Amino acid sequence: MTEKVLNKKKLLIIGAGPAGLMAAIAAAESDIGVEILEQNDKPGRKLLATGNGRCNYTNRYLVPELYHGDRPAFQDTALRAFSNEDAIRFFHDLGILPDERDGFVYPGSHQASSVLNALLRECRKRSVRIRTGTCIREIQKSEDGFQVITDSGWQYHCDSVILACGSDASQIPGSTGTGYEIAARLGHGLVKPAPALVPLKCLEIFRWDGVRTYGTVSLYVDEEFVCVEAGEIQLTDYGISGIPVFQVSRTAVRAIRDGHTVTAVLDFLPDLSDEQLKEYEQRMKDAYPGIKDAELLSGLIPEKLSQALLEKGLPVSSVKELNVTITGSLPKSRAQVCQGGVDTAAINPDSMGSLIVEGLFFAGEIMDVDGPCGGYNLQWAWSSARLAGRKAAEYLCDTDTKDHPEAGEIK
Ligand SMILES: Cc1cc2nc3c(=O)[nH]c(=O)nc-3n(C[C@H](O)[C@H](O)[C@H](O)COP(=O)(O)OP(=O)(O)OC[C@H]3O[C@@H](n4cnc5c(N)ncnc54)[C@H](O)[C@@H]3O)c2cc1C
Repeated sequence: MTEKVLNKKKLLIIGAGPAGLMAAIAAAESDIGVEILEQNDKPGRKLLATGNGRCNYTNRYLVPELYHGDRPAFQDTALRAFSNEDAIRFFHDLGILPDERDGFVYPGSHQASSVLNALLRECRKRSVRIRTGTCIREIQKSEDGFQVITDSGWQYHCDSVILACGSDASQIPGSTGTGYEIAARLGHGLVKPAPALVPLKCLEIFRWDGVRTYGTVSLYVDEEFVCVEAGEIQLTDYGISGIPVFQVSRTAVRAIRDGHTVTAVLDFLPDLSDEQLKEYEQRMKDAYPGIKDAELLSGLIPEKLSQALLEKGLPVSSVKELNVTITGSLPKSRAQVCQGGVDTAAINPDSMGSLIVEGLFFAGEIMDVDGPCGGYNLQWAWSSARLAGRKAAEYLCDTDTKDHPEAGEIK
């Protein structure tokens, strides 16, 4: 090993998910040593599951206001510094040509593995070391940097750390939420994580399990309309799922947690007006006197769905206005992302640096920022990680680090 390598400042990144890999690539543009420690036996396990294995890695239509967190504008700087267009260009340069569907951007291969492989290739090119099978239990600040301690007691020393451990959403290996505990022991507060982008449970049980059909989901909190989403609704034995349900789920989970009454109105024929449905009903009754409601609906919605509605004694009009009471959601293990996470009040939005611990940075879903379905959460991982990676490298390259650039008042 040369003198130069030995003298290089060292950045350790905890977690080899999309945020950790991107942070490493950004940091390794500078002359520092970059290493990622990952608890799984392989990097990017969750990334491989994204977009049903196709990886919806960003969205053409992106404004920072689409994101949520206790500090509403926290994400703005990172998303502007590395936008959705920057992400498309970045992956294009890595050999991933974009394929766009209604704004949702996928790799041309429609395989998440090609995005992961491109990131790993770039890490190799930049001499980023990835150490798998290494679970970090604790990080301690020392006088000359950090002691990073594994669950088997092994210790690594480094000059700066990026926590990119993700959340405990999903059952994918590595979704443990240990990053929250590590951050908490370093003095960082937590906004209690809860599921977001998650199926919802209904009070009313219908025998419609397995039906997938296009429709709209309108959400009401204490009888007040909040939002409406369209797409394929998946009907289950406990309630409702699918992308439009995911999109309204964050609001529903929070409202229920805060003691409000939440209802959803399902419209399985959003392209047909009430008038048109009535005309259809009349036309069929005129043409086939005595026609049963089940037959009447058979040309409009899946048979299992019409049977489920009719056996509850509901009228034909219920296909356009079915009220269901939302009682809760499936647990975090069934969610795509978490709302909540490390409180961003103690993180500098211009650097992703800790305002409590000098030299500590954050990237990705571990923070209290979440976006809707459609490539927005990966975009947050890319944007926050690029900023964290660049700023951590700047921090290390800064010869005079006595005046800590991150230290400041917690707002
Ligand atoms: C089924 C599913 C589908 C999704 N589809 C999409 C999609 O199409 N588009 C989109 O934008 N978003 C999607 N998401 C969300 C997206 O995957 C996440 O927001 C994103 O992966 C977050 O990246 P991250 O790097 O912050 O965290 P993660 O991807 O969770 O990576 C964190 C890494 O840190 C490691 N780690 C954690 N703790 C430790 C520790 N103590 N020591 C060492 N290593 C540790 C973990 O093993 C993991 O590898 C989907 C999520 C799921 C579950």
